[in-house]
Amino acid sequence: SIVVEGVSKSFGSFRALQDVSLTVPEGSLTAILGPSGCGKSTLLRLIAGLERPDAGAISIGGRDVTALPPQRRHVGLVFQHYAAFKHMTVWENVAFGLRIRKRPKEEIARKVGELLDLVQLSGWAHRYPSQLSGGQLQRMALARALAVEPKVLLLDEPFGALDAKVRGELRAWLRRLHDEIEVTTLLVTHDQEEAMEIADAIAVMHQGRIEQVDTPDGLYDYPASEFVMGFVGQTC
Ligand code: ATP
Ligand code: MG
Repeated sequence: SIVVEGVSKSFGSFRALQDVSLTVPEGSLTAILGPSGCGKSTLLRLIAGLERPDAGAISIGGRDVTALPPQRRHVGLVFQHYAAFKHMTVWENVAFGLRIRKRPKEEIARKVGELLDLVQLSGWAHRYPSQLSGGQLQRMALARALAVEPKVLLLDEPFGALDAKVRGELRAWLRRLHDEIEVTTLLVTHDQEEAMEIADAIAVMHQGRIEQVDTPDGLYDYPASEFVMGFVGQTC
C-alpha cells in the first residue's frame, strides 16, 4: 500500500500541494484525476522521492520512506514521454535495471523473457526503440519498471502522448495486466474516461487538494462537490 499523510509542498510562495492525505490499498489500481496544474505529478514525484515534502509523511508497504532516496523506495516509474536508451535493444532496455543490480545472467534472461511476454513484446526483443510505435514503447517502459520488482507502480499519464484508439487499447490492456500481477498501482491522468474505466478508486484533485476519493460509481452517483460533479460528469 501507499499511505500519504498530511503532505504539503510549495514552490517559492506557490502552494502546489496542501495537506494531502491518500491511501492506495495494497494491490489496487487507484487513479489521481484532476485538471492540468492541480498537483498530480508533484504528488507522484513526492511518493517516488524525486521531491521532498515540506510537511507530512509517506509510507510504502508499511515502511516510512519520507527520508529515503528514490532508489531505496522500490517504486517503478513510467512517465508520459518515456526516455528509452536508444542505443540498446528492447531486451537490453528491460534488462538494464537487473544488470546494474548484478543479478545472475540466467535470472536476467528468464526474467526479461517473462516480462516481454507479459507486455506482449517477445517478437520485438531485438529491435531498437526507434523501431517501435508509441504504444509499444510505453509497454517496454512498463516492463522496465516491473523488472526490478517494485512494491508500487507509479504511472504519470503513461498513455498521454498516444492517439485515442491506442490509448483505449492500452487502457484495457493495463487493467488486465494489473489483474494478473496485482501490483499496487497509482495512475495519474487528467482523462476522466480513462480513470472511470480502469481504476478501482479515484482521487479527484483540485488546486493542490484532494476533493474526494471514491469508486468510479461512487464519484458519479455521489459527487462531494460542484467541482467533482463538473469534472467527473464532463464526458460521461
Ligand atoms: P498536468 O496535468 O499539466 O501534468 P499536474 O496536475 O501534474 O498538471 P504539477 O506538475 O503537479 O501539475 O504542478 C502543479 C503546480 O505546481 C503547477 O502550477 C506547476 O506550475 C507547479 N510546479 C510544479 N513543479 C514545480 C517546480 N519544480 N517549480 C515551480 N513550480 C512547480
Ligand atoms: Mg503532470
